[in-house]
Amino acid sequence: MTKRKIKNKKPSEKWKKYKVVGSLLQKGRFCPRCGDVFLAVHKDRVFCGQCHYSEFSRKEEPKTFKVDKKDLGLATEVDKETVEKLAKKVLEKK
Ligand SMILES: [Zn+2]
Repeated sequence: MTKRKIKNKKPSEKWKKYKVVGSLLQKGRFCPRCGDVFLAVHKDRVFCGQCHYSEFSRKEEPKTFKVDKKDLGLATEVDKETVEKLAKKVLEKK
């Protein structure tokens, strides 16, 4: 009898679906049908390897706002809060 060769199996690399941001743990998207199966993220779609659920992502352009330089004032640092405030201002004007 000859010894059967054991092939190295490629791991699923599930750990890549977890990401620690600050003190938060980000998880990948789960399959809506299976529940606790991660969806494989492709260039233009997400796919479930178990039930073959797939979802095509529509091309959505990020919303951009035109902001007057006056509104920025003397703020040297533009953080998320000020950007949100400015976005609200711009939306109120319309
Ligand atoms: Zn599934």
